[in-house]
Amino acid sequence: MSSAGALIGTLRASHARRGAALPDLHTPAAVSAPAATGALLQVRDLSLEYRTPQRVVRATHRVSFDVHEAERFVLLGPSGCGKSTLLKSVAGFVEPVQGQVTLAGRPVRGPGPDRIVVFQEFDQLPPWKTVRQNVMFPLLASRTLGRAQAERRAMHWLERVGLAAFADAHPHELSGGMKQRVAIARALAMQPRVLLMDEPFAALDALTRRKMQEELLALWEEVRFTLLFVTHSIEEALVVGHRVALLSPHPGRMRAEINAHDFGIASQGGEAFQAAAQRIHHLLFETAPS
Ligand code: ADP
Ligand code: MG
Repeated sequence: MSSAGALIGTLRASHARRGAALPDLHTPAAVSAPAATGALLQVRDLSLEYRTPQRVVRATHRVSFDVHEAERFVLLGPSGCGKSTLLKSVAGFVEPVQGQVTLAGRPVRGPGPDRIVVFQEFDQLPPWKTVRQNVMFPLLASRTLGRAQAERRAMHWLERVGLAAFADAHPHELSGGMKQRVAIARALAMQPRVLLMDEPFAALDALTRRKMQEELLALWEEVRFTLLFVTHSIEEALVVGHRVALLSPHPGRMRAEINAHDFGIASQGGEAFQAAAQRIHHLLFETAPS
């Protein structure tokens, strides 16, 4: 077996160890069993605020949801409803004023290599590093791997996102879509327990965006990572998510949870898809009669 083949074997085995081998049975892995409901990620009663000397902005109010191992879970809501703040809190950058986040039964108290974020902005890659160095950087900085191994791991993931030929390029030589692929490769190379994505395709043109959604789903089919994905696009939420949590506008509260298991790229435009999109639109934008 080639060294790349061996690496793929290692990665597969490691993901399988996390209980991701049986995608249709949301079975919690034995190694992450302590949580009572068996969910890998638990968000409970999470209220988040920004405090300035002048005022307090409540971003979310008592939000709760569970994300299971190897699940694709989407947070959907209008701009300003607290999606990014929620994601930052799961990442460990924003402390709750109420409630808590637990990962594999342990309270989240700060950032860690088990949760990696992919952002919307194309400038999330340090421009002075090559593509390969960008992907290697967190592996080295977190002392996850030594240099030779980090380089092999980086090249494996760059191949997976179709960018091996650009390993020595610098970010400014890449298109927006390519930069996002590097950010995804960099995140998955860390083998996080949960991959956090904050509107990663929102700044891309429609065709590239669709292509990136397709590629993300193909990567998921292969690796079965656990995904918490934020978007304000109803269509994107239905395509990407197994389950979609709807957040009400400012401050964000849980409005409803939609089962999107049946939808994928191919179902866009279909009748059932349109009906689900309509229903979500209604839930998000029509206020209930008082
Ligand atoms: P979304 O990602 O859903 O668009 P955000 O999580 O970015 O929403 O923001 C939620 C709310 O918190 C908004 O009202 C926003 O104005 C406010 N907010 C976000 N970041 C800050 C900040 N650094 N300081 C003060 N208020 C903020
Ligand atoms: Mg946001």
